[in-house]
Amino acid sequence: PYDVLIVGGGPAAASAAIYAARKGIKTAIVAERFGGQVLDTAEIENFIGQKNIEGSKLISKFKEHIEDYDIDLILSQKAKSLEKNELVELELESGAVLKSKTLIAATGASWRQLNIPGEAEFKNKGVAYCPHCDGPMFEDKDVAVIGGGNSGVEAAIDLAGIAKSVTLLEFLPELKADQVLQNRLEEIDNLKVIKNVDCQEIKGTDTVNAISYVERDSGQKQELDLDGVFVQIGLKANTDWLKDKVELNQYGEIITTANQSTNLAGVFAAGDCADSIYKQIVISIGSGASAALAAFDYLIRN
Ligand code: FAD
Repeated sequence: PYDVLIVGGGPAAASAAIYAARKGIKTAIVAERFGGQVLDTAEIENFIGQKNIEGSKLISKFKEHIEDYDIDLILSQKAKSLEKNELVELELESGAVLKSKTLIAATGASWRQLNIPGEAEFKNKGVAYCPHCDGPMFEDKDVAVIGGGNSGVEAAIDLAGIAKSVTLLEFLPELKADQVLQNRLEEIDNLKVIKNVDCQEIKGTDTVNAISYVERDSGQKQELDLDGVFVQIGLKANTDWLKDKVELNQYGEIITTANQSTNLAGVFAAGDCADSIYKQIVISIGSGASAALAAFDYLIRN
């Protein structure tokens, strides 16, 4: 068995792996994709010591650093469920089972979906989640952004520089984004905000050509012709594989103590899948390091 098995491939996992390997213990990372959300980030300007770096470049640096150590990197594998007997047993979607004395969950978060008709059908055919990744495909086209929080408003401002027009659709009567961002919206000519609407269906033939919504105060149904829809209604912790095994909070995040322990002995959690209040790269790196040190402490005591 491994001493520490880390599930996930983002900054939290990378940091946990390096901290664990430096203790000379048998360490592995198992991940669906190495890089996590950072791979979907165009530019990072708050990674201390690095004024500006592309997400993909930062991930290459993480990978290079990991490869300096004796860490098993098991990629393109998704964790399915976990059993705790004497050892922690991790079942993968492929059917394989990995055993370890301790486990660190670092499976991060994914874009939350609207779950309306057409969303799944037109994913990557007009329905997108990452403005930095997919924005350039909508050059001179008409797009909508759904969600008026910080990420939605930032996406709308960003896309307005590329697309012909951007319509921001918000469910509530008011936007929730910071006022400074809302003020920026007003300065942009090809950007329109429609509040208090409930999106009903994304329509299209081969690709998206319209979205329908209901005005919540009048009950009036409306349809907007467009080429793309960016869904920006937040992120959801990737913790389905731990359901009923490890205690989660109301948002589905893993409940952790000050050293990143969970309620299950020998199982730790770090990064965006855990219940930290702020979700950032440096914070994930910090909690990943804590989790690895806590796992090492656990190993020498058990
Ligand atoms: P993630 O980065 O989410 O990585 C999770 C990993 O787990 C992925 O590799 C995934 O493939 C894997 N995984 C998921 N489920 C499973 C499973 N069941 N089995 C196996 N593997 C699985 N933060 C900043 O500090 N600065 C920024 O400028 C910044 N910009 C951002 C821009 C965007 C568009 C987004 C989306 C986020 C941004 N963030 C930024 C936030 C930052 O990216 C996250 O806080 C950070 O990546 C979280 O790291 P993590 O390791 O916890 O998880």
